[in-house]
Amino acid sequence: MSDLRIVIAGAGGRMGRALIKAIAETTGLELVGALEYSGSTHLGEDAGLMSGLRPNGVTVESDVAPTLNGADVVVDFSTPSATVRLAERLAETGIAHVIGTTGFSNADNAAIAAAARRTPVMKSGNMSLGVNLLAALTRRVAATLDDSFDIEIVEMHHNKKVDAPSGTALLLGEAAANGRGRALDECSERGRDGHTGARKPGAIGFASLRGGSVVGEHVVIFAGPSERIELTHKAEDRMIFAHGALVAARWVKGREPGLYSMADVLGLAD
Ligand code: NAP
Repeated sequence: MSDLRIVIAGAGGRMGRALIKAIAETTGLELVGALEYSGSTHLGEDAGLMSGLRPNGVTVESDVAPTLNGADVVVDFSTPSATVRLAERLAETGIAHVIGTTGFSNADNAAIAAAARRTPVMKSGNMSLGVNLLAALTRRVAATLDDSFDIEIVEMHHNKKVDAPSGTALLLGEAAANGRGRALDECSERGRDGHTGARKPGAIGFASLRGGSVVGEHVVIFAGPSERIELTHKAEDRMIFAHGALVAARWVKGREPGLYSMADVLGLAD
């Protein structure tokens, strides 16, 4: 008997398949649906076989309504447009939504926040315990050091990643901006190129590297006069994100409607 019935959105992706494996390895969790978009080559496949497991009798579907039937929570690592559409559907049903997708526009984020007024939504650009601790540390260091310490965030990911900076880099940037009592939108500096002039005091800079099979590496640099602090996280296996997302799925079921973060799930929020 399961205590949590889960649908995976973006089931055929790297994270989707890692989640299907993680559910199979965890007692008390049941995969009840696997969603992909209508043109996906995975439609009709058995979700277990697709993920390198034994058949589990769950077929990959694009039809949302029947797939959601009987689900407690949807764990979604797909694409921004698919996630926004799904958030609107889930708001009508009251089913909880765990969102790991990254690369949202401000309009997408507003649509998700609107959906979270009607159903519980847990959204995080990084579901690992390590990165969320790093974000808490980043906020603390940023609050302690003044603007004579310049903040730069460097990230590296595999060569298939489509968005930049990574959702995790933005999450760390938010933490740093928050520590300095600012909004990230007002101070972020992205993609320097050409004659940029001197660095703006108080800016939070981002640099993105892409290559090979790197799962995800992030460094937050505080560069001051004659000294530098660097906080680093290296993800070695995407199962850390899958396990974190499943912890979040258990946590979010039955909550009041609202937009929650991994810091809420892990008890790291102030
Ligand atoms: P991926 O392998 O490209 O997977 C994305 C999946 O979503 C693909 O299977 C894609 O299908 C599918 N998809 C596209 N449109 C869809 C729709 N309308 N409905 C349902 N599924 C749809 O990428 P990934 O590495 O798994 O990453 C997925 C997302 O999670 C990215 O945004 C990534 O940045 C993010 N991510 C977050 C964390 C975290 O901890 N929060 C960790 C890792 C990754 P096709 O391949 O057929 O297009």
